Amino acid sequence: MTDTDGTAHLPKTDAPNEAPVNRRDTLRLLGAAGLLSAAAPLVGAQQAAPATPATPATPAAANGPMNGNGFYRQKIGDMTLTVVSDGTAPLAALLPTWGANPDRQAEFAATLAEYSVPATNTVNHFNPVVIDTGRHRVLIDTGRGGESGQLANNLRRAGILPNTIDTVFITHGHGDHIGGLTRAGSPVFPRARHVMGSAEFQFWTTQANPSASVQANLIAMKDRFTLIAPDAEIVPGLTAIASPGHTANHLSVRATSGNQSALIFGDAAGHFLLSLRHPGAYVGFDVNGAQAAATRARLFEMAVQEKMWVSAYHFPFPAVGHLRKLPVGYEYEPTIWNWS
Ligand SMILES: [Zn+2]
Repeated sequence: MTDTDGTAHLPKTDAPNEAPVNRRDTLRLLGAAGLLSAAAPLVGAQQAAPATPATPATPAAANGPMNGNGFYRQKIGDMTLTVVSDGTAPLAALLPTWGANPDRQAEFAATLAEYSVPATNTVNHFNPVVIDTGRHRVLIDTGRGGESGQLANNLRRAGILPNTIDTVFITHGHGDHIGGLTRAGSPVFPRARHVMGSAEFQFWTTQANPSASVQANLIAMKDRFTLIAPDAEIVPGLTAIASPGHTANHLSVRATSGNQSALIFGDAAGHFLLSLRHPGAYVGFDVNGAQAAATRARLFEMAVQEKMWVSAYHFPFPAVGHLRKLPVGYEYEPTIWNWS
């Protein structure tokens, strides 16, 4: 069970894309769950391999499994924000989808080249967020669901059980944000209050021919939803803020704890480079490009002025950091990676 590099492999499960967890994470998971006796065989295996150096204690033990492997924790005041990846999807070409203005394609291509960001054969990221306020555990957006969705696997790696999520907030009704709400007709977060903007929910659920995803994840779940207006409190410390343009009634989230705050954009931020560097740029999925660009200008400026942490759904993992203002436009500064 133990390789020479000290990696203990857990018994295989039938979960898709299940990767081996290293022994240190395994011990933390077991310890966090109060199952220390179950860890004994692994400890025995370590002792039987004399060449394996002892695993040093790190501060990560107090917080949960070591960062990486699909999740990343960031403290925001007394809150813990955990980006939990839903995985990636192949993206053959970044343009024109992620910078859609037809008359600015050369300008966008030049910026991608300037920053060495691949324009072809790249990936699209999906980054739901869990915020632990101390009183509430809130999941913001739920990934794609189905066979592609990696949220459930990565929540497990992060040590977050789905039935410990007490609130799910949905920024907007696109399939890559609502798809993980149900699996085979059952709610994935059975104990959670589901919260969404009232106008956004109404828009998607009153379509003449709603998509299968809207049918399964919104219409069939309607009794679980609490519908709110912009500026409403989601739970204490978290507020919904209007961010229209990507969809007509898209809502983002402001989280505040002590003197720190975070802005969870959902899809209101667009692309991590093109939408920031090029005022007026819009994305192919924006229902109203001009409005989406105006919303971005407002929210980017707010994030800079208030020195907010930011997290955006399609930014590259770990998709958390800050924004900085340039003479024209803004730039994304990813957080400095911390293993704990
Ligand atoms: Zn999206």
